[in-house]
Amino acid sequence: MSVSQETNNLLKDKLKETFGFSQFRGEQEEIIQNTLDGKNTFVIMPTGAGKSLCYQMPAIAMDGTAIVISPLIALMKNQVDQMNAFGINAQFLNSSLNKTEMNKVKTEVLNGEVKLLYIAPESLTKEDNLEFLKQAKLSFVAIDEAHCISEWGHDFRPEYRRIKSIVESLDSNLPIIALTATATPKVQQDIQKNLNMEDSTIFKSSFNRKNLYYEIRAKKDIDKQIIRYIKSNHGKAGIIYCLSRKKVEEVAELLNVNGIKALPYHAGLDGSVRMANQEAFLNEEVEVMVATIAFGMGIDKPDVRFVIHYDTPKSLEGYYQETGRAGRDGLEGNCIMFYAHEDIIKLDKFNKDKTVTERDNAKMLLNEMVSYSNLGSCRRRQLLHYFGEYFPQDCGFCDNCLKPTPKYKAEEEVALAIRAVDLTGERFDAQHLAEVLMGVKNQYITSYEHHKLDIFGKGKNFFKLQEDEDEDEDDDDEQDEEFSDEEDEDGNPISKAPKPKPAPKAKKKKEPELNPVDQWVSLIRQITILGFLEKDIENYGIVKVSEKGRSFLKDSFPITLSKDHDYEHESIEDDKDDEKAASGGGKAYDEALFELLKNLRKKIAKEKNLPPYVIFQDPSLEEMATTYPITREDMAQINGVGMGKVVKFGRPFIDLISRYVEENEIETATEVVVKSTVNKSKIKIHIIQQVDRKVDLDVIAEQKELTMAEIIEEIEHICYSGTKLNLDYYINQVIEPDKQEEIFDYFMSAETDNIAIALRDCDIEDISEEELRLMRIKFLSEVAN
Ligand SMILES: [Zn+2]
Repeated sequence: MSVSQETNNLLKDKLKETFGFSQFRGEQEEIIQNTLDGKNTFVIMPTGAGKSLCYQMPAIAMDGTAIVISPLIALMKNQVDQMNAFGINAQFLNSSLNKTEMNKVKTEVLNGEVKLLYIAPESLTKEDNLEFLKQAKLSFVAIDEAHCISEWGHDFRPEYRRIKSIVESLDSNLPIIALTATATPKVQQDIQKNLNMEDSTIFKSSFNRKNLYYEIRAKKDIDKQIIRYIKSNHGKAGIIYCLSRKKVEEVAELLNVNGIKALPYHAGLDGSVRMANQEAFLNEEVEVMVATIAFGMGIDKPDVRFVIHYDTPKSLEGYYQETGRAGRDGLEGNCIMFYAHEDIIKLDKFNKDKTVTERDNAKMLLNEMVSYSNLGSCRRRQLLHYFGEYFPQDCGFCDNCLKPTPKYKAEEEVALAIRAVDLTGERFDAQHLAEVLMGVKNQYITSYEHHKLDIFGKGKNFFKLQEDEDEDEDDDDEQDEEFSDEEDEDGNPISKAPKPKPAPKAKKKKEPELNPVDQWVSLIRQITILGFLEKDIENYGIVKVSEKGRSFLKDSFPITLSKDHDYEHESIEDDKDDEKAASGGGKAYDEALFELLKNLRKKIAKEKNLPPYVIFQDPSLEEMATTYPITREDMAQINGVGMGKVVKFGRPFIDLISRYVEENEIETATEVVVKSTVNKSKIKIHIIQQVDRKVDLDVIAEQKELTMAEIIEEIEHICYSGTKLNLDYYINQVIEPDKQEEIFDYFMSAETDNIAIALRDCDIEDISEEELRLMRIKFLSEVAN
């Protein structure tokens, strides 16, 4: 075994032992190795993808104390609680500690007992803290929420800009790992420059949060819409973001009056009130937190099921980060934003007193927000594009995919727009290009002599052609019926997977169309997201022609584009269906047991004064309610558990499950499956549901973006954990009956179900691995389970 293999195995053992995971997710392992190798590391990973583990693991594995610089005190306490629950000595150093506590922490660090020391940038700059850190044995420095360094995000913290020089004064050889959950290419550049980390290894994960459902609604009758939404999602935790403190208070009050337990959170509240409200939310004493953006940074609550933006946020960074707090456990997470153009005007007014640069920055961020809200193209594609990521197809799981605005085909027009970019020298933004195409003769255009170009005014007649398609549609009645309480649907398995529905006519035919310049702007933005144009990182708004765009000019084809939303005229829909569609997860686990486990968790959490999820997270409980672990060893195999947690919290849960199993005469699976990531449990549930509905495996694979082999592997796991799956409907399509019989007989008589051996020994003509594996599943389901 090579050295690196050996360390890899050691890391995996450590991961299992400490955190109860048997596999790393995504690039975690490479990232950890990079830090262990003493190199600088830059990690861009969306919320919920396992960012913290990237510095927690090396901190555990290395000698000395790792410093974790983190912007908020609330966040530190949360993380330290979690680490301690896993049996790791983590501490924080900040102004909330008194002198005695502070000294205790310092002594422990100097004695080499502390693996992670969380510290705010303000505390880091204090002279006596610096002196103390110089005496300590340090392993590396982690800078969490690194985007706080950049003025381009919304969380800019000037003191972050001093971090580099301070770290250097401690020890210039200390490896740095900077992490952020939000970074556009521009912010990324800024972070690297400021930390002097241009040579660092960059790990950028996809920003796609597959389980999040994005929707934007017109801001009309908003209170009614929100109350109805929460009532039909009874018992689920959610956050509502408002722009102003006053609004926060009002909405919290409104919800309480309507029988929904909600608390406010904003910077104007007394510190102790804020803390108490936050705890109440984490401890599941209230369902909804109504808050300004002051709430949530680093709040590690994994089971927030919805995030509602009451007001339009001021940037997509903010929006992405706030919505990112939904569904961190990989299960349901609905993100609903209410849009009104007045909000944009209001936000723009706030910027009045800023410096010119700040004001310009703010305006650009706001423009992106407006564009995102209004475009009819897939939200996920837009968001990912904003973060510098190309997503090759529509996601099928956002409002624009499920309830599309009217579509139109364009080919000549796309070519015209690309040529306009090219002919003007790739130095202008969409607005200018649209004006050139529409033949607008303003000072700006004439000063560049763009009125002399042959494309000038060529776009004038275009959008008139697009109207005919909507003509024969019926008028959409305003669905403005009186507000009535929805029946509480909690507890009913939601079995409908999201399926594209026919367009419910987002627009009515008599509506005013967008003005043609705006339509051209929309077209240019859409083809940028589709990759025909690309954004200039250095200069905001400027687009260039991409390779794809150039080859389109040579060989064009029709492209389907979407009309923009017109929120002024969109009717409010009955959102009942959306909620069903959005909450894709049905329940494949034992719900009664899950409820019992949840109550037990709540009780223990209360006794220990910890948030419930610090004990065990929902996916772990779901897994327990699927596999019924009744020994310590079995319990330690549950994802997210690990022996440390079994020792700390496991006993009462094992007792409960044992009692339950006995009382209900449940046979527990003898062979416990080790699954790789928390997210897998969601995929499993999805597969079980789809198979029940006899959906073809290749279709399921496509839905989940998995290969056939991966899908089969998931199904094998499901079977090995004791769940019966009937795949006959599919197997009968792909394997001849005779062949099926032969394979079945082989497994009946074989000594082992090992596939490699079967391939060698089974003596069946033209047999493929896939066929063998499918038949093994059938065999196991019918014979073994
Ligand atoms: Zn979509």
